[in-house]
Amino acid sequence: MTPAIDTDRFSEMMRARGVDRQAQQVRVTRLTGSDQEQDLSTPANCEGFGRVRHFRRQTSESWPSNPLPVVPAARTLGIEVPDTLEAQVFQNAVCNWRCWYCFVDFPLLSGREDLSSLLTADELVGLYAAEAQRPAVIDLSGGQPDLVPEWVPWMMKALRDAGLADSVYLWSDDNLSNDYFWRYLSEDEQAAVSEYRRYGKVCCFKGFDAESFAFNTSAQPELFDRQFALMDRLVRDTDIDLYAYATFSSANDVGVEDAVATFVDRLQEVDAALPLRTVPLEIAAFSPVHTRGITDEHRRAMEVQQRAIAAWNSQIESRFAQADRAQAICDVRLRR
Ligand code: SF4
Repeated sequence: MTPAIDTDRFSEMMRARGVDRQAQQVRVTRLTGSDQEQDLSTPANCEGFGRVRHFRRQTSESWPSNPLPVVPAARTLGIEVPDTLEAQVFQNAVCNWRCWYCFVDFPLLSGREDLSSLLTADELVGLYAAEAQRPAVIDLSGGQPDLVPEWVPWMMKALRDAGLADSVYLWSDDNLSNDYFWRYLSEDEQAAVSEYRRYGKVCCFKGFDAESFAFNTSAQPELFDRQFALMDRLVRDTDIDLYAYATFSSANDVGVEDAVATFVDRLQEVDAALPLRTVPLEIAAFSPVHTRGITDEHRRAMEVQQRAIAAWNSQIESRFAQADRAQAICDVRLRR
């Protein structure tokens, strides 16, 4: 069995490759020529450093629709909520976990210099602004963007400097693995992120219990608890518009319903309404998963998620009134 990732040590190693704080540069994946490029429905843009992603609200039968980031982006931009939203994606080239279902090829998560470049936020915004057909949403994705928490305030400043802050919605992902937001950002930078109006952040819970978390990420099971502690701190200490994803694949099919109920309890310990800002994501085997080698355990894990989503749906129905469930996700209030 492969030893679990030593997340704290690996995170520092990945961060060191992922940022030059002095030069205000972030290591961004070059998609042109990468294996991931084969999976893109449209060619890479922004001189090979970007791609356009289509976020769809519709999901499989039995799975809740996915309003992220479509609904908060549309609300913030003052447009009708579309069924599909285009976003300009940039990927940072480092991640501290190795989820078996990750749709990014693992070499693109290791900060390899031959597959990425260090770029400033001004350069990224310049590439974006030069595109003839540019979406109104920029998605800072991974990789794990929060290994380089500076990326978000640097992009905010660059958008402001380019006169785009009022017409672009900024969205970023976080795998809830570290406290770098507080450790590496100054108080002014933290405040700038909290106060920026057209920004939303989605934090991903990678399993419904410690065992499924460790199976999904290859990290130590204890870090499942840390995911809740970090989410709690973000809700308590910032004014960021926060959302969550949850993945429910698990190699263990014993006690799934009880484990999902406990998972919802724990979300509600962070905030009673947090489940209504949480969107379960169905795991599918994208081509990098097949390249890495899909096993019977992975196939079982995808079956277990179907039981887990049934349990989630019933928990949400029993805990929240129809009127609360019908709210737009961005109208669900968290404590502040
Ligand atoms: S945390 Fe995200 S980017 Fe990192 S391996 Fe998991 S799915 Fe991939």
